[in-house]
Amino acid sequence: MAGRSSETEVLIAGAGPTGLVLALWLTQLGVRVKLIDKAPQAGTTSRALAVQARTLEFYQQVGLSQAIVDRGHRVSAINLWVKGTGTARVPLGNLGEGVTPFAFPMIFPQDEHERLLISRLQELGVEVERPVELIGFEEAGGQIRATLSAAGSHETCISSYLAGCDGARSKVREVLNTDFPGGTYHHLFYVADVEAAGPPVNGELHVDLEDSDFLAVFPLADTGHARLIGTVRDTIAKDHEPLEFGDVSERAMQNLGVNIKQVNWFSTYRVHHRVANSFRRGRTFLLGDAAHIHSPVGGQGMNTGIGDSVNLAWKLAASLKDPSSAGLLESYEPERIAFARRLAATTDRAFKAVVNPGAMARWLRTKVIPAVAPSLFRIPSVRRAAFRTVSQTAVNYRGSPLSCGVAGKVHGGDRLPWVGVNFAPLSSLDWQIHVYGGAGAALEALSQRHRIPLHVFPWQASMEAAGLKRNAVYLVRPDGYVALASTEGGDGGIAAYLAEKRIKALR
Ligand SMILES: Cc1cc2nc3c(=O)[nH]c(=O)nc-3n(C[C@H](O)[C@H](O)[C@H](O)COP(=O)(O)OP(=O)(O)OC[C@H]3O[C@@H](n4cnc5c(N)ncnc54)[C@H](O)[C@@H]3O)c2cc1C
Repeated sequence: MAGRSSETEVLIAGAGPTGLVLALWLTQLGVRVKLIDKAPQAGTTSRALAVQARTLEFYQQVGLSQAIVDRGHRVSAINLWVKGTGTARVPLGNLGEGVTPFAFPMIFPQDEHERLLISRLQELGVEVERPVELIGFEEAGGQIRATLSAAGSHETCISSYLAGCDGARSKVREVLNTDFPGGTYHHLFYVADVEAAGPPVNGELHVDLEDSDFLAVFPLADTGHARLIGTVRDTIAKDHEPLEFGDVSERAMQNLGVNIKQVNWFSTYRVHHRVANSFRRGRTFLLGDAAHIHSPVGGQGMNTGIGDSVNLAWKLAASLKDPSSAGLLESYEPERIAFARRLAATTDRAFKAVVNPGAMARWLRTKVIPAVAPSLFRIPSVRRAAFRTVSQTAVNYRGSPLSCGVAGKVHGGDRLPWVGVNFAPLSSLDWQIHVYGGAGAALEALSQRHRIPLHVFPWQASMEAAGLKRNAVYLVRPDGYVALASTEGGDGGIAAYLAEKRIKALR
């Protein structure tokens, strides 16, 4: 059936967390978007729970972090159990103190998270169009021509760019014919959101390690509510099809003393670890689960998709404002694919350590880890390293074509270290220059000439501890990463960098 046609700057296929954040960021940057989703309504199940500190820092840039901090749940400790016996309690407290304003592990269920993003987009005049399915597209003449299907009729959408945020079974990835190599774990997982009582439903995280599987009890914000994630034993998986909560719940109830009053959501799923061979072809990009999927160990999946969106948004905005800046888009794939591959490998190792049935792994899991974890976690450098890895605040783009120089301990490509006052200007979502100490006249002149604000922060000892160098120059990207770090005098080489990379202020 012939149908309507539409036109936009960026067509976003998929309104999960990745597509919603991309739409939010682009809209804030003045880019017109069309956001479609084939599902008739937003997700209603909790799925990803962890919102990492780096995600909250991005949200602080768009004024959203406080809403999540207010509604989410801070996890104050992890308790390790071995075969039903409580063996260790590791307090988390302000684990990342001094690293980030969001120094604590935060839990906020994905459905509530999506609802918050949707309402923020509505305030900005953007609605998710649903149910609207992307069924095909082609690139020709510097445009994307996409075919969308809604209620039996077809729509042609012309856009400058297409963002494939359409999840693990991505249509965009399929049309691009991009390989998605990796594998599927043999274990079957289950998730359940429950109303419950008992020692592990005390607002803390509880992990029960067994000979060949595990069970985790995550606190939810409402008292008496918890999320259980576990692996289903092979014998149970074989004997019960389809599985029901009663088939898997016995261990939680017996070993951990969880008294389950009501099950609000139960699902089983297989976990894959795959990274697409390429994240871009021409004017089409892959982001989020469409580009990479991995084990939920460490709560990284959704946060990584959000990181993809923030990385791509300002580059798209720059290219749309001035096509001569389109070279910036070339940095999206190398910056994000490198991180996705590392993440898939590390979550794979962590996951195997948790479920490996071998005698050595079992001994490590049930004897060594519970014995040494609490003492290890008392060592400040260990706490800090663990936090920086899991919170994604250690993610850097040092190998990127956009990254240049080093000043103090900060390299081009590093996340701008947080020193209390210096994150506020990041809310401009635009390029900026930071100096900690004093700035010379050449820098002031460059800042005015290029309309890139110069922020000078009076020197404090804490800045050196964070790795910054007094009077050095840091050119900061719209996503809060350092592009150029320099101890040269004058303008620190910024004018030459801006000319070479064809960078201009976004607004
Ligand atoms: C049962 C379950 C439990 C999970 N638990 C965890 C967890 O504990 N921790 C964790 O980190 N992660 C977990 N995840 C993974 C997490 O939910 C994903 O990483 C996250 O949703 C990825 O976001 P996304 O926006 O990239 O993709 P998705 O959330 O999958 O969103 C993709 C969207 O695209 C839409 N779409 C698909 N095809 C089309 C098309 N052709 N046209 C238009 N729209 C389309 C879909 O309807 C969907 O809304 C879980 C996932 C599941 C399913």
